[in-house]
Parts: sequence; structure tokens; C-alpha cells
Amino acid sequence: MSDDAVTGIDHLGSGSRTFPPPTEFVQNAVARPSLYEEAARDRLGFWRSRAQLLSWKTPFTETLDWSNPPFAKWFADGTLNAAYNAVDRHVESGHGDQVALLAEYEDGSDGTYTYAQVKDEISRMANVLTDLGVRTGDRVAIYLPMIPEAVFAMLACARLGAPHSVVFGGFSADALRSRIEDAEARVVITADGQFRRGKAMALKPAVDEALAGGGASVQKVLVVRRTGGDVEWIEGRDVWWHEARETASVEHEPVWVEAEHPLFILYTSGTTGKPKGIVHTTGGYLTQTAYTHRAAFDIKPSTDVYWCTADVGWVTGHSYVVYGPMVNRTTQVIYEGTPDTPHQGRWWEIVEKYKVTQLYSSPTAIRTAMKWGEEIPAKFDLSSLRLLGSVGEAINPEAWMWYRRVIGGDRCPIVDTWWQTETGALMISPLPGVTATKPGSAQVPLPGISAEVLNDAGEPVENGQGGYLVLTEPWPSMLRGIWGDPERFEETYWSRFPGKYFAGDGARKDEDGDIWLLGRVDDVMNVSGHRLSTTEIESALVSHEWVAESAVVGAADETTGQAVVAFVILRSGTEDAIAEAGGEDKAVEILRQHVGKEIGPIAKPKRVLLVTELPKTRSGKIMRRLLRDVAENRQVGDTQTLADSSVMDLIQKGLTGKG
Ligand code: ATP
Ligand code: MG
Repeated sequence: MSDDAVTGIDHLGSGSRTFPPPTEFVQNAVARPSLYEEAARDRLGFWRSRAQLLSWKTPFTETLDWSNPPFAKWFADGTLNAAYNAVDRHVESGHGDQVALLAEYEDGSDGTYTYAQVKDEISRMANVLTDLGVRTGDRVAIYLPMIPEAVFAMLACARLGAPHSVVFGGFSADALRSRIEDAEARVVITADGQFRRGKAMALKPAVDEALAGGGASVQKVLVVRRTGGDVEWIEGRDVWWHEARETASVEHEPVWVEAEHPLFILYTSGTTGKPKGIVHTTGGYLTQTAYTHRAAFDIKPSTDVYWCTADVGWVTGHSYVVYGPMVNRTTQVIYEGTPDTPHQGRWWEIVEKYKVTQLYSSPTAIRTAMKWGEEIPAKFDLSSLRLLGSVGEAINPEAWMWYRRVIGGDRCPIVDTWWQTETGALMISPLPGVTATKPGSAQVPLPGISAEVLNDAGEPVENGQGGYLVLTEPWPSMLRGIWGDPERFEETYWSRFPGKYFAGDGARKDEDGDIWLLGRVDDVMNVSGHRLSTTEIESALVSHEWVAESAVVGAADETTGQAVVAFVILRSGTEDAIAEAGGEDKAVEILRQHVGKEIGPIAKPKRVLLVTELPKTRSGKIMRRLLRDVAENRQVGDTQTLADSSVMDLIQKGLTGKG
């Protein structure tokens, strides 16, 4: 990315709009400015102290072994157990009666599990898995809805030192089969079905199908009863959890493993292509998830009710539902259903019901709530909230402001957290109570993290310029590789800038040195020699009052190389304003001019296409490569990780004869 390239930082509000932390917040905040000083003085010493957040069976003596990069070892001669750290030790220290999970089901029924109850459940399940043949080191695939048993299953595996591979419950039999085969799982844990938008949907048939056509490594299938629907049963292979549970002992000694023992494999979201099986290990991963969760979300274990809306099928559900929060002895909400069942205020109703204090969600969810209209959250009491978080994509400044005002009552700090499946835990994020926040920017590397923005030649860019985001030093929760493919690991992340981890994202440093994420480098557009960021043009569009959400791609163009094509979803209730302005064609012209004014004439989209949906991954990220296919009139590419495969048909049908 050259520096003429990236235009438009001004409209994003850099420097001009900041929100200092509220005074009461500063006084009681977990995070302190001294964390940065401590880490700057002695980075490894800093991590050594953070590792004391965990209970070690055998203390480690060496912090980092980086003698064979990019293969890191952290705390390598220490031993510990992840489930012991997440559950048992809280019971042992007298907090067994504290609620761990507030489970809210889609139909409004609920259930509560204390830490002592979770300990019993995971001990039982660990005993059952042992009976089913699972041994330390064996992989277990987990294919479950967002119910407490999903958390139990992960922790039961962790107790045994059997790496889990969670596959999102909305994925197809094919996606499940390829993940089972890649990891050679010995057991699959699933459910008969799950509730989705008020309907019971079968889940187990997908497992049966995945195993019928492959998955030869799988010997047993443990089935949780959720919907009570009829299921096909394979005698000798399938086992009901509720039956096995009855006779299973609550006594179970966790298996103490070395810090570098693999904790799980997780496949990336697949936004850009074929998912990669990312491997995380135990000691470093738990250290960084626990520390970042505590500091970035300002966790006070005895009083907070935390809610992260992510499914355990994604890395956010691993690090900020299961491991970080439970290692920190957090009380948290987990919700089975969708945000709009039975009504569009469902999430806000849950915040009110449990008096949620921290909410961690995604830009896609916020923009969807914006599209539905602010009168919906206004019907609920959201005054318990004291902190908001965002992850998954860059959050457009306008969506950030809406989140702050409508959900956060202009009172809650917002943490925009940049990280990846590969990084395991937060990397770039403001610290609440310390950082003055800036809408749209993830801002600064966390204490202990070294990030840089480099130009094509691999030199750090000056403030005000854009380039490639890299991580320049190893970090405790870094991926240890791609399962079974060390070459792909080196090639994908370590070859672009030798010795440095290349994240695949474009970024810019503003005049204050704060980092703004600009989108994936694969998506960067080149228009007449100017490189333009998808995120910046999308944010310019979202800053118009009619627009709820947009996705921008570069389509091949004879004269300019690439041309900007924007797909736009309008907010509900804008129909009258648009009619008044002279109809849709006029509206499109107004939006083009708006981008020209906000960023510059070069960024003005050649075409603006009004659509009602955008193609997203199951984790809610926009899949621009599919829109590029549409914009270039090509056959649409691989849609396996798409949340709703009918969306592409809808977009193409809607566009016939338009644009
Ligand atoms: P794949 O690598 O298979 O294409 P993916 O990158 O979507 O999938 P994840 O690991 O779930 O898989 O997502 C990480 C990516 O999400 C980051 O590289 C970045 O592009 C984006 N991202 C996450 N958080 C933020 C954020 N706060 N701001 C900007 N982008 C973010
Ligand atoms: Mg990625």
C-alpha cells in the first residue's frame, strides 16, 4: 500500500472525536496505565507475572523458547490443567456456589449452573468420555448448539488433555466431515437437535451423514438430548449423554499436561477461503485469555454479569465464553437462540432480565440492530450495562456511536478488540479506564504485545500512513501451527515479512499513532493507481443517515483497473425520505456524492447497488469475494461457509436490470 493510497482518514474522525474514560470508572478499573510501563520495561517478565493468574501443578522455569521460530514454546516445563483452572480451583477456594452459567434458551426458559455444578458435570462427562475410549491426546469433535453442554463438553475434553475441535452447529454434514477427517477425531459429541427460530431442527442426521461418507477415525458418538425428536440410532456407536451421565462418577482427577500440550484445534471462519485448522496449546493460551479478559472487560468476579454473544463454534466463544471468563471466575449469560426470536428486542430483553454489566458482540449485530431501529432497544432497561465490546470486523464509526448512545446510554466505554483465531486472544484494543476511546479505531497493542504497520518494503510506516499489520514479537496465545501442515503455517503467516507474523489485514496509523484496521489486504482496491480501503468507503456510506450496512468491492474496469462497487442495505423507515429525494436512482446518486464528499472523488463508487441482505459467514462477517463475483458477472465461488446460501440468489435476482 503506498501512502497516497489510503485516503479518507479525516472523515473517520481521527483525533477529533475521543471519549475519555468516565471518572468513576477510572478509580475502580482493573487496568492501570502502569501495565504498559511494566511490559515495556521487561516484556517476558510481564508475561511471567501474568502467568501467575493460573494455578500451575508444576511451576515453569523458562518463559519463552524462541530458538526455532516460528514455533514458539511458552512456559514449557510447567504443567497444569485447563479445566482445573476454569472450574475446580474456584470450588476449592470456596466459590462453588457462585453462578458460572446463566443459560437462556430460545423459548425463554432458563437454567443456572454454579461452579460446583459445572465441576460435577464436566467430571461426569470426562469419565464417560474415558469409557468411550478417549485418551489424552485424542481429538474429540464437538457439534452442539449454544447450550451449557457445549461448555461442559469442551471442559471435559480439557480435563483429559484431549484436544477438542468444535464445529459450529449450523455447518453442513460436508463441513463437519472435512473437519472430523482433518483432525482424525475419535469421538463426536452432538445433540439430537437444536431450536432455531422457534423450530426444532435435527442435528444428529448431519453427524450420521458425515460419518457414513467418511470419518473412519470416529468410534463413538455421544448424544445430548435437547429437542426430544426422533433420532436414528446406531447400536454400539451411539450413546445418550443423559443415560451415561446417570451412572457416571463426579470424581475425576484432571490430567496434568505440559504447558505446550494442545488444548484445541479450531478452523478459521473461512471468510477468505478454505478454513485452516489452527492449533492452540494450554499454558500460554490460558495466560493471555485470562489476562486480556480481565483487563479489557474490567471483570469484577463477584459482582459482574458478563455476556459474550458469540457461539462456541468461533474463537470468540472459546476465548471469551469458555476459557478467559471461567479462568477468571466470571458469572456469565449464554444464549441458545437468535437475536430476533421471538422478537427483535430479544437481546435487550436478556440484558434487562439478567442485569448484564458487560456485553461483548460484533459490528454485524450492531448494524442489524441499527437497521431494525432504535425504538426496539429503547423499550428495555439497559442501565445495568457498564462496558461494551466489539469484535469480528472493523466497527464503522457511525455504528460505534450508535452502540455507545443507544445501547451504552452514553456512559459505557467501548472496547473495539482486534484479534484472530490465530492470535488466540485480544491483541489490539483500548483498555477501559485507561485509554480515551476513538470511534472506529482499535487503537493500541495491549501491554505485552508488539504490533507494527509496515510498508511494501517491510519498514514501519509513519503516522498518517497505511500498510500491512504485523506482529513483531511472539505472544503467549499465538497459534502453534496449522494442524498437520507446518509448511502452510510458515507460508501463510511468516513468509511475507520474514521473522514477523503477517496477519493479512491492512491498517493505518493516524496522527496520534493509533491503529485503524482497513480490511483484508486481499480486498484492497486499486483504482487508477490509488489503493482504497474497503472499510473506509463502507464507513463513509454507513455515516449517511439512510444506510444501515454496506459492503464495497473492487470490480475489474477497463479504464481504471478496478472500479468501486458498493452494495448497500438501507435502514428501515427511510422509504419516505428516499421517495421525497426523488426515488431510488436519485438516492444512489446522493450516496455516491456523499462518499465523494467524505473521502474524495477517487473513492466515489462507480455503482451503488441497493440490496436487502449481504452474504456473511456463519460468524457474521461479510464475504466480499462473493460480491466481487457478482460485480464482475462471474459464477459465484465456494459458498460452504456462507450463513444463508439463498442470499446470493436474492442479491442476483434483485440486481437483474438494475445498476
Ligand atoms: P479466514 O482466515 O478463514 O478467511 P477469518 O479471518 O474471518 O477467516 P477469524 O479468525 O474469525 O477468521 O477472523 C479474524 C479476522 O477478523 C481478522 O483478521 C480481521 O480481518 C477481522 N477482525 C476481527 N476483529 C476485528 C476488529 N476489531 N477490527 C477489524 N477487523 C477485525
Ligand atoms: Mg483470517
